[in-house]
Amino acid sequence: MSGKDTLAFNTEPFIKIRKDLHQIPELGFQEVKTQRYLLNYIEELPNKDWLEWKTWRTGILVRLGGSSPTRTIGYRTDIDGLPIEEETALPFISEHPGMMHACGHDLHMSIALGVLTYFSGHQPKDNLLFVFQPAEEGPGGAKPMLESEEFKSWKPDRMVALHIAPELPVGTVGTKTGFLFANTSELFIDLKGKGGHAAYPHQANDMVIAASYLVTQLQTIVSRNVSPLDSAVVTIGKIAGGTKQNIIAENARIEGTIRTLTIDSMHLVKERIEGMVKGIESSFDCELSIDYGANYCQVFNSEAETSAFIDFVKELDYVKFFESEKAMTGEDFGYFLEEIPGFMFWLGVGSEHGLHSSKLNPNEDAIDCAIRLLIDYVKGA
Ligand SMILES: [Zn+2]
Ligand SMILES: [Zn+2]
Repeated sequence: MSGKDTLAFNTEPFIKIRKDLHQIPELGFQEVKTQRYLLNYIEELPNKDWLEWKTWRTGILVRLGGSSPTRTIGYRTDIDGLPIEEETALPFISEHPGMMHACGHDLHMSIALGVLTYFSGHQPKDNLLFVFQPAEEGPGGAKPMLESEEFKSWKPDRMVALHIAPELPVGTVGTKTGFLFANTSELFIDLKGKGGHAAYPHQANDMVIAASYLVTQLQTIVSRNVSPLDSAVVTIGKIAGGTKQNIIAENARIEGTIRTLTIDSMHLVKERIEGMVKGIESSFDCELSIDYGANYCQVFNSEAETSAFIDFVKELDYVKFFESEKAMTGEDFGYFLEEIPGFMFWLGVGSEHGLHSSKLNPNEDAIDCAIRLLIDYVKGA
């Protein structure tokens, strides 16, 4: 199933667009060049009578008025890159040192422009809203965007988003109803004690030791506090402290992430962390502070919309459906789904290297597949 107009639509330009965007990755709320690039493109689109747009911080909202609308369908793409030094040998490698589109948001954006371009030439029946959302990787653009007047005045009745899946081959699409991605929280703990000479430990208060005890204790939260029938992750990805081999460390810092299946277990994990932090303070006579950084709620796909999408995908001859499993990854698209029914799905891009890898190299054939899929979905919705 793919309409004649859809088949005739040339998706080739969106591969070049993806390459252009890949060269200018920017971090959350600093997507100035990216926003300018997108606006330059949107401003050139024909059929301005049913096309409107406005900016929100470094993001953009584009609305296409339908011919006989009964509702508004929203499609969200994230637009930010990551603080990663790209290690591919691609001819269109990142021009921004230390930054890379290593999560495929460059593909997400080019797909959005493809679908937008098609419907700017073929007026849809229902209204469409294209949401170019900043700062998905942090500090989180979805929540403040959702709360903005700019978004509220064009609030859609359904929200759809995709994310590239390097481990799935091109031509595959995966999702599931209900819980898709976890509740997530960053975790930063600073420890402050009293430094000193390595040979006079009795005059100092060693934060390397305190941090080591804390990291060990944190491991017991999942094994001893979270129900074995529930699931959670507490990962400490970084530990830093001290200055030199013969100086007792005055400061240490622990950085990690928390992932849970439910909001309740997120509260439980945080409560336990806070208890352990107090314990370390009194047992090592030091001061600790906790910062939870960016917190994202779960991505929960609404039953009716997701089932209908799955049925639709199963009918298509150019994509294969794959039943996804829950994942402990996080996505701030979950905030949209808290208020608006809809779903997120995985798009296979067959890359040997995974998300957030400095070597991620998605197969660009997936762009054509996704554009057609979304056009057909909107037409049939
Ligand atoms: Zn990411
Ligand atoms: Zn991402």
